[in-house]
Amino acid sequence: MSTPVPPLRYLLGYPPALVDPARTLLAQGRLGAAVLARHPQPHAARTDRALGDYVQQMKAEFMRSAPPLDKVVYDGQLERVRQALGTHTAVSRVQGARLKAKREIRIATVFREAPADMLRMIVAHELAHLKEREHDKRFYALCEHMAPGYHQLEFDTRLWLTALELEVPPAGPDAAPGQRDGLG
Ligand SMILES: [Zn+2]
Repeated sequence: MSTPVPPLRYLLGYPPALVDPARTLLAQGRLGAAVLARHPQPHAARTDRALGDYVQQMKAEFMRSAPPLDKVVYDGQLERVRQALGTHTAVSRVQGARLKAKREIRIATVFREAPADMLRMIVAHELAHLKEREHDKRFYALCEHMAPGYHQLEFDTRLWLTALELEVPPAGPDAAPGQRDGLG
């Protein structure tokens, strides 16, 4: 019998051909390193202000006609599993006698430490929701436009989150990160 592996909840709905190699790497303690080897570049948006600038720049480049954003923040309250891909909300607030819609983008704090590619993916996802509510063909076309290779980036992000949550790194000096990428 093989080693029992917990269910990989970030990877639900992906085919075994993609999930099984990840499962193997995870069991070997090498999944996180394998993913990071493909996305070595960090990002500089470490604060809410820097994140806000980053999002506004991307919006100005790709989504100029979308409604303006009132707030962009990292949110440590976002529950990783259910909401790792961020939230997109139009919060209704009573202001005097009027109801004002307030557009916010909240990015899970875990993305502060994510590779640049993954931040771009998550921001593209949230910006696309300014125009498309559903995860449909038009939505993903927008994502792909803002973050080329979007689907692979989203999958890699899910692998990375899986590793963050479940991976126990191998002990010993031979376990340098990024040695091999068995994902193919
Ligand atoms: Zn979404």
